[in-house]
Parts: sequence; C-alpha cells; structure tokens
Amino acid sequence: MRIRKTFSVIALYYLRSMAGIYIHIPFCKQACHYCNFYFSVSTSLKSDLVKAIAKEIELNKDYLAGEEIETIYLGGGTPSLLSADEIKSILDSISHYHPKMDLKELTLEANPDDLTPEKINELAALRSYGLNRLSIGVQSFHQADLIYMNRVHSAQEALSAIRRVQDVGFENVTIDLIYGTPTMSDEQWMDNILTAFDLGIPHISSYALTVESKTYLDRYIKTGRAIPVNETQTVRQFDILMAQMSSHNYDQYEISNFARPGHYAIHNTNYWLGKKYLGLGPSAHSYDGQSRRWNVANNNNYIKSINTAVIPAEVERLTPSQQANEYIMTSLRTIWGMDIRDSRLQMADIMTELKNIDASFYILKDNILTLTQAGKHYADRIAADLFIED
Ligand code: SF4
Repeated sequence: MRIRKTFSVIALYYLRSMAGIYIHIPFCKQACHYCNFYFSVSTSLKSDLVKAIAKEIELNKDYLAGEEIETIYLGGGTPSLLSADEIKSILDSISHYHPKMDLKELTLEANPDDLTPEKINELAALRSYGLNRLSIGVQSFHQADLIYMNRVHSAQEALSAIRRVQDVGFENVTIDLIYGTPTMSDEQWMDNILTAFDLGIPHISSYALTVESKTYLDRYIKTGRAIPVNETQTVRQFDILMAQMSSHNYDQYEISNFARPGHYAIHNTNYWLGKKYLGLGPSAHSYDGQSRRWNVANNNNYIKSINTAVIPAEVERLTPSQQANEYIMTSLRTIWGMDIRDSRLQMADIMTELKNIDASFYILKDNILTLTQAGKHYADRIAADLFIED
C-alpha cells in the first residue's frame, strides 16, 4: 500500500504539465563587442517597456493555458538595470494572470557592476517574490579579457559582487565564463576556473568566444583592430574546462553547463527537454509544443504594438522533421542523451548514419546516444549528420 501510494505521487508529479516564463530585458550600459543579443544602450524607454511587458503578460495569458508555471527567468540584456519596483510589477502581473504556479526557480541575470550593496539588499528583499537564483555575467576574472570583450565591469567588481551576494545568503549562484579569448593564456583560463571553484560557485555556464557576423568584434577583427580568435586555443581551453569540471565533481549536464549535483538549472533544462515556455519582451521566443514564436526585436515597435493590444510576433509551425531535428540537436548536448527509439525519429536511419560517424565520438547504450568528451567538440556536426530531411 505504501509503495503504491509513493508510486502514484511520483507518477502524478511527472504527469503534471509544467512550463516556464522568460522575460527579455533589452537594455545594457554598453555593448560587449562579441554580443549579438537584442538590446539598447539607451534606457529612455525602460519604464514604458516594463509597462508593456506587464501588458503582454495579460495579452498572452492563454498561451500556456493549463500549464503550471515552474520557472521564471529574467534575462537580457541586463535585468539588473531594473529597479526592485519594476521587477515586482512584472512578477505581480505574472502571478495575477498565472495563478497556477508552483515556482521552483526564479532566476535574475545581473552584471557585476550593478551588484552594489544597495542593489543586493533590494534583490534579497525580492526573495519573498520567489527570487532564488542569480546568474552573474562574469566572463573572466582577468582584466585584459574584459577589456578585449568591452565588458562594462572590472575583474575586481566581479569578485566583490559574488562575495556580496553570497554574504546575504544567495547560495544558488551561477556565473558565465568565456574561453578562447585571444588575451587569455591556458594558465589564466585555468586560474579563472579555479577562482570559480574557490568561490564555491555551484553552477557555471561556459561558452567559447564566437565571432558572430555584424558584431563589433567581427568588424574589429576584419579591420585589424582586434586580435583574431584562434580555434586551436579554443579547442584546448574547452578540454581544460571539461577536465577541471570533471575532477571537481561538476556534472557537464549540457555541453556548456556544469553543476554540482542538485544545482542543475531547472529553467534551461526544461528548454532542452522540450517543455513549453512563454517568452515576453522584445526578441523573446516562445514554444507551445507545436510552434515557435518570436517577438519583434525593436523596443519602440514592441511598445507601440503592445499598446494597441497586438503581440508583435512571427510564428513558425514546426514540421515533423523540424521537431525531430530540434530533438536531435538539443538532446545530444545533454547528459540525458538522445533516445533513438523516440517516436520523432527513424531508428533504422539513425543506426545507418551512426556507421559513418567516428565511434570514439559517441556511446550508444540501452538505446540512448550520448557524446564522449572527444565527440563534444563536434556536437553540431554530429547532430547535422543525423538530421532528418523533409
Ligand atoms: S551585457 Fe550581455 S546582453 Fe548586454 S551587451 Fe553584454 S553580453 Fe550582450
């Protein structure tokens, strides 16, 4: 009897439909040279935009109909540029229009220079609203790298900000670190990683510096104003990252995400597991299980449209092969891997394609395909090789 009851409680948990809400705050103090997210360095529309987001929450109240909200993520841009009252007004609107909420994780992205003692006290007060996770954009603890990237904060500000948030009891902290920066030696990269360990950071997202087209970095490299990125260095530093994380008991639960057990990001994990989410604000993306939708990436146009009660978004309904390919692309990046029996896939085709892929790049065990450390360097290419064509 006791076993049956436990089973039914677990089964009910997994049968409950859970979803997340992402809010894009499109303002930054200055443009990082590598960045291709949508943001504005002018905050003149900030208060109008916050009002528009609150209104968009109302306009979208049925998008996740029937779903229980499990996570909220304030990203950007730089959400730490919002005042506590502005954050509260957004959260109030969410809880008003989404009464079915079982909030497990509420993350706010912050840049180190915003995390002054006063701001941290304001954020600590927002814990009563559910704020329980901070994502701090550190990128490097070395000043030369920050200058190369045109980050707005200093290395010292990053260290002080982390210690301050920990002092007020924010234990669930994640930081971003970038590798492959031409100003950074392998020793300095190792030092960055060890500094994060010394600080007791339980979750680290780490990305290779990539040169996206139309960014300042792209232009500066092409015109000789910035040192080019070296692919061999990037590969080497990714290997250093994986080796250090593994030897310090961090799980690489997604190619770019490492966590101590119990600290996996729920919101992002839900993206990778294909759960539904609602994106609010300019350029934010949403997914309802069948289609993807993305808002206009322009603050002015977004505000004007929302004020006339029209959500300024484009929608794309995913074809069966697109759904399969998204599953291949995301699942291969995770610790949970790709189930080759999944109904979206053709198991026989996958088995045929695997014969053409270097056997040292993957493990196929109990019908679950995962990538080895060597294979993680080629994740996108391996996924593309397995893609299904229309
Ligand atoms: S702070 Fe973040 S969003 Fe803003 S420019 Fe830098 S990388 Fe881009």
